[in-house]
Amino acid sequence: MANIHPDEMPVEASRLNGLTSAAGRQEGQPDSFGSLRGQTAVVTGGGRGIGRAICLELARAGAHVVIGYGHNRQEAEETADACRRLGPDARIVEADVSDPVSSKRLIDEAFKIHGRLDILVNNAGITKDTLALTMKMEDFDRVLKVNLYGAFSCSQAAAKYMLRARYGRIISISSIVGLHGNAGQTNYAASKAGIIGMTKSLAKELASRSITVNAVAPGMIDTQMTEAMSGMAQSVMKAQIPAGYAGRPEDVAAAVHFLALPQAGYITGQVLGVDGGMGA
Ligand code: NAD
Repeated sequence: MANIHPDEMPVEASRLNGLTSAAGRQEGQPDSFGSLRGQTAVVTGGGRGIGRAICLELARAGAHVVIGYGHNRQEAEETADACRRLGPDARIVEADVSDPVSSKRLIDEAFKIHGRLDILVNNAGITKDTLALTMKMEDFDRVLKVNLYGAFSCSQAAAKYMLRARYGRIISISSIVGLHGNAGQTNYAASKAGIIGMTKSLAKELASRSITVNAVAPGMIDTQMTEAMSGMAQSVMKAQIPAGYAGRPEDVAAAVHFLALPQAGYITGQVLGVDGGMGA
């Protein structure tokens, strides 16, 4: 297929391919800006924190959500219940993203349930912080396996379905630490910088098929991940935020929602900071 903007495509071809106009609407759909009605989204690590906020935001916009969870089934069920109360369908699937077989099963299962896969959010992530000289190789390895390999294996599995549909949105949660580094987080920074390289490369591979691939780079967001930091480390971080306060998971979810929209179809390979000005 030639690389042409959906607006320049004959209406019939555009409809067949499930593409959108610049106005962002699928032909014949009356949905307003912001709607994801009828779409299917997979969110890894969706049980709590930023992942839960993303699930709720996408469900509120009308998307059916498939929540991948590593080990905490109860958290995932609570997220799913909250999504269902908003209207759309929500399912949970056990998936440790550090295992490529498990990642592929999550994506296949999501497609099997709904017969389509429009949005993948690679959110699952961990930290194992310590200064580089004392970092164990197994801790370096583990963080890379969950944060980076997990994002890749899910993206690879999802891209196969999205290529067939000639439509898709892949959004990975990177971090300001992946852009600027942070003492004590060489493993985490490497994994989050890796996500950015992966995002830009995959964006180039998939752009001609109307699949966008972007990253969101949060600064400091109040979740259990940041609660685990010492009080001192939290104060140091907060002092560096120009906005003067830590973000909320909902701030990140809003950025993901925007990038997931049909209307964001000409935005790909980008890193959107959600950091109260830290990266400015
Ligand atoms: P969190 O610890 O509350 O949530 C992480 C989620 O990932 C949990 O649901 C957890 O069960 C899941 N998970 C962990 N290992 C997994 C595995 N192997 N397979 C599947 N799921 C797994 O943390 P959060 O703050 O909500 O973080 C969400 C994402 O945002 C992470 O990728 C994190 O690196 C990123 N991030 C967070 C901040 C922040 O300040 N909180 C800043 C930048 C980036």
